[in-house]
Amino acid sequence: MTERRSITFVIAAFNEQDALPLMHARLARVMDALDADAQVLYVDDGSRDGTWEVMQQLAADDPRVGLLRLARNFGKELALTAGLDHVDTDAAMILDADGQDPPELAAQFVARWREGYDVVYGTRLRRDGETWLKRATASAFYRVMGWLSDTRIPRDTGDFRLISRRVLDALRQTRERQRFMKGLFAWVGFRQVSFPYEREARVAGGSKFNYWRLWNLALEGITSFSTVPLRLATYVGVFTALAAFAWGLWIIARTVLWGDPVQGWPSLMTVMLFLGGLQLVALGIVGEYLGRLYVEVKQRPLYLVGDWRPRR
Ligand code: UDP
Ligand code: MG
Repeated sequence: MTERRSITFVIAAFNEQDALPLMHARLARVMDALDADAQVLYVDDGSRDGTWEVMQQLAADDPRVGLLRLARNFGKELALTAGLDHVDTDAAMILDADGQDPPELAAQFVARWREGYDVVYGTRLRRDGETWLKRATASAFYRVMGWLSDTRIPRDTGDFRLISRRVLDALRQTRERQRFMKGLFAWVGFRQVSFPYEREARVAGGSKFNYWRLWNLALEGITSFSTVPLRLATYVGVFTALAAFAWGLWIIARTVLWGDPVQGWPSLMTVMLFLGGLQLVALGIVGEYLGRLYVEVKQRPLYLVGDWRPRR
């Protein structure tokens, strides 16, 4: 006899009024069949369409539905954080509202969890309905992240995962404001296992992440999990200084040997502009970290709750 465990599906939604009913229909079937007490927590991340009304309808029809509404759009990372903070079951499973992470796989995630894993994370084998550019930039990001960070962040892994009570408690201790959830999930450690799956196309609506948002998410990831860029300035500086020294020796030798007719304006300009550029880049990198430090020291709450309706 194995004891009965409980699990909450946490789904952050921003303007997903069309996708949610489809999603819930699928999820309800999954929960019926699941070998655990299942419930779902929908987090409305300050949607501007009818998402909240749709959620209320779902909660009215299904007693297993709990609702959380944030005071405004805080972004997916914080919406997930808010959701996970409100989970009181033995585990949580994170899904996207658009059906891209198939809820039908939940049973297999639960099986791995029962084997003793604390984090079962979905790794994407194939990504339907995504352009080659998105795939290429995503892959480049994981590679850079791998070089820069000591935390091993698994490749091609989104937020689709099951996490145990221990990990939920650990996450509650990480209260950083600039949150990169994929990084935090990896950072906590415990026993983790990958679960390969095929990512489906969105059931309705469009992606909420344009390239600018993705770029910013990438910056968040890098600055939250690596200080290598800060050290980069030192190495680039040392390298340029050495090169400048060698070149200086050459200029002195040349002047001594052949005299010094006035020339060299082009090289002067080139060096000046190059160094100016390097200095600005280095300053910018420092600025990225300083800005995050600034946000952190203000100690504002991570998110604000507008409405909290636990399941009935
Ligand atoms: N999402 C959110 N807040 C936001 C943006 C997105 O909660 O500010 C949710 C969105 O509703 C969806 C999930 O995050 O459930 C993933 O978003 P999306 O499908 O647009 O991203 P993609 O799959 O294209 O990377
Ligand atoms: Mg999606």
